[in-house]
Amino acid sequence: MMTDRKPQRTVKKRKGGSATVRRSIRQGEPENRKRNGKQREIMYVTYFFTALFLVLSGYIMVYAATHEEELVNNSYNPRQQMLLTQNTRGTIYSADGEALAQTVTEENGESRREYPFANLFAHAVGYSSNGRMGVEAQMNYYLINSNVPFSQKAENETKGKKNPGDNVYTTLRVSLQKTASDALGVVYDGAIVAMNPKTGEIYAMVSKPDFDPNEIESIWNEVIEDKESSVLLNRVSQGLYPAGSTFKIVTALEYIREHPDSYQNYQYTCNGSITHGEDKISCYHGSVHGTVNLKKSFAKSCNTSFANIGLGLDRTQYAETLQKLYFNRELPVDFAYHKSSQVVENDTSDSDMMQNAIGQGKTQISPLHLAMITAAVANDGKMMKPYLVSEVRSADGTVVKQYNPSSAGQVMSGEEAAVLREYMEEVVESGTGTKLKGHAYTAAGKTGSAEYNTVKGESHAWFTGYAPAEDPEIVVTVIIEGAGSGGDYAVPIAKRVFDGYFQTGNE
Ligand SMILES: [Zn+2]
Repeated sequence: MMTDRKPQRTVKKRKGGSATVRRSIRQGEPENRKRNGKQREIMYVTYFFTALFLVLSGYIMVYAATHEEELVNNSYNPRQQMLLTQNTRGTIYSADGEALAQTVTEENGESRREYPFANLFAHAVGYSSNGRMGVEAQMNYYLINSNVPFSQKAENETKGKKNPGDNVYTTLRVSLQKTASDALGVVYDGAIVAMNPKTGEIYAMVSKPDFDPNEIESIWNEVIEDKESSVLLNRVSQGLYPAGSTFKIVTALEYIREHPDSYQNYQYTCNGSITHGEDKISCYHGSVHGTVNLKKSFAKSCNTSFANIGLGLDRTQYAETLQKLYFNRELPVDFAYHKSSQVVENDTSDSDMMQNAIGQGKTQISPLHLAMITAAVANDGKMMKPYLVSEVRSADGTVVKQYNPSSAGQVMSGEEAAVLREYMEEVVESGTGTKLKGHAYTAAGKTGSAEYNTVKGESHAWFTGYAPAEDPEIVVTVIIEGAGSGGDYAVPIAKRVFDGYFQTGNE
């Protein structure tokens, strides 16, 4: 950067200088004045370059200090190569202290990265060769740096040994991850995320199909070419799906917000479908729900009633609500994800408003984002920033960096969240989520059957919810691609994750 810029400026200045010299000769000035002028010019040029040099070196120093992680993570950076020769890549641990990724040294002195749980943490922990993903990518800078004391570094150097890299401690729990992975099974593709609504700690993050990161080099070409199943895609944060009826959480919130004093008086008679202009929207499975209020519309997931609500919503306010809930913008997370979208503008058609209200049409959301919204409802309207890494420690146990729970904003009022919780409890009590009823813990949530092929009527099965209903400790969000209805397929899977959480103790 510096060597590129300097010559250019030099040329410019010289041109300017010689023009001044020519002018003074033409005006017939005395020799000594000419000489003084020249000296002054040389001084100016010197000052200019000194100043430029200082500014540039200052800039580079500040940039290097503030962008150190970024610079070292750039694989073209020689410092990264240097760190790799000096240090052994650190270990990634689960919250319960098990190694999820570690460097092992073979007898011949060569080291390799080992993933003791093979496929289980494929997307969450990721891999570190052939590019990087997961925690391996997010925490690369720390894993290749070593913060052991200088005395130990000096000792290692004299012995020709590498320094142990810093270790990363995650919020992931092995047993819950295994329960979630087994619950999702091997037949369907999909995703499960489990997190703490009060802190944002992610306990489990499962995406299927998965792969064995121990084999990443040998399977690389195969997984890259298989575009259809997108094996490397972390469906939890990078998979975008129609939200289906889980989006009724957002629509109900918007309705309550627009009618704070009268939403309880809402009434609609569902005869199975609603027709508006060219558009017809029907209730799932040909259901007819009869006369419903807002709570019952929500619990029974009545499409007809919600499409009716969509027609009456204030587009400007709706757009604001969506913005606040992190639609169409960056999510507050430190790992790879894709943005959700649900665009509502002043000229959005009635047809689109009906589709929006039931989470169909152009609505696209990631399971992680839906879990974040659910967690905000469970946490009195305050959304917590989801996170996977709690701490970085040097090999001798010194804490290098700590990640604490942090708020992503009060995305709805405490009153609004309380109404939504009551509705989500009703889903389990008498609605589409009754398979979660009558267990040792109380659960609440919302199901969804998101159509992705309207011709064949195929849909993804969704569930998003939390437990215990009275004091939420865990949010579970499930999507099973192409399985059918959420109540039939996603709820039983979420139940296994809740069962796993409450049986393994909530330490
Ligand atoms: Zn209905």
